[in-house]
Amino acid sequence: MITDSFEILDERFRRLALGNVHLERLATGCRWTEGPAYFAAGRYLVWSDIPNDRMMRWDETNGSISVFRSPAFHSNGHTVDREGRLVSCEHGGRCVSRTEHDGTRTVLISHTEGRRLNSPNDVVVRSDGSIWFTDPSYGIDSDYEGHASPHEVDGCHVWRFDPASGELQAIATDFVQPNGLAFSPDERLLYVADTGATHRAGGPRHIRRFRIHDDGRSVSGGEVFAECTVELFDGFRIDTNGNLWIGAGDGVHCHAPDGVLIGKVRVPEAVANVCFGGVKRNRLFICATTSLYAIYVNAAGATWPPDRPSLA
Ligand code: MG
Repeated sequence: MITDSFEILDERFRRLALGNVHLERLATGCRWTEGPAYFAAGRYLVWSDIPNDRMMRWDETNGSISVFRSPAFHSNGHTVDREGRLVSCEHGGRCVSRTEHDGTRTVLISHTEGRRLNSPNDVVVRSDGSIWFTDPSYGIDSDYEGHASPHEVDGCHVWRFDPASGELQAIATDFVQPNGLAFSPDERLLYVADTGATHRAGGPRHIRRFRIHDDGRSVSGGEVFAECTVELFDGFRIDTNGNLWIGAGDGVHCHAPDGVLIGKVRVPEAVANVCFGGVKRNRLFICATTSLYAIYVNAAGATWPPDRPSLA
């Protein structure tokens, strides 16, 4: 039977939940976990513990936990690029960096027109190699999650960076606090969360959806896709069927591509971010406040190119 780790709000979610499967806590003792990234080749996961300025590592082969990097430039969101390299948003470095195969750190982008970025928060890589990231102010608002500093850029934007050409392009400049982001499986849609309610009474706490044009770099739309019903949407990832698995105040909210909240994974701490991993990409890793959790689901994380059969 479906366990109480899953909350079914729409019959479509019943197929995504698994019988006899429970949420597992894999690690705890952190202060604010964020940015899980799974490395299939090594079968390990890294994540950020932002206030403690460290990155942690969980080994899927034996469950061991260790410090991956400390200090860690108060890193926040991470992803893995097509070459298997770690790409990181750094509050402290006010940049997006990449960890090369030999372990060295390369700052990819830190400035626009001579001004420092705010504090990159979350990042995804498109199959063309371009890096899309959000740049809210959380990492410069205080010394807790970075270094308190003035804004240099006039606003908090969504950006696209092309590491091949070095070009940085603003994708959207009308967000209050852009946060998590992800592409649909066919990379035709871009979803971006706005957590502006932290900075503005009645401010946004929703996800917006953009259409990406054939050039792979211009977008249109930007309408509200879904409103958060419990606290705020933060980071999220998308499965092969286009469902969004989104961090929220009471767990992971699953929204179907039509925007409907179809179910939840209940988590006892507020969720900051998630990623799919495991050898079949059907294990959802969840960074939630002090802890790292995981749960198997009947869904798999989208990969590029979209190469997995639909579960529908
Ligand atoms: Mg975030």
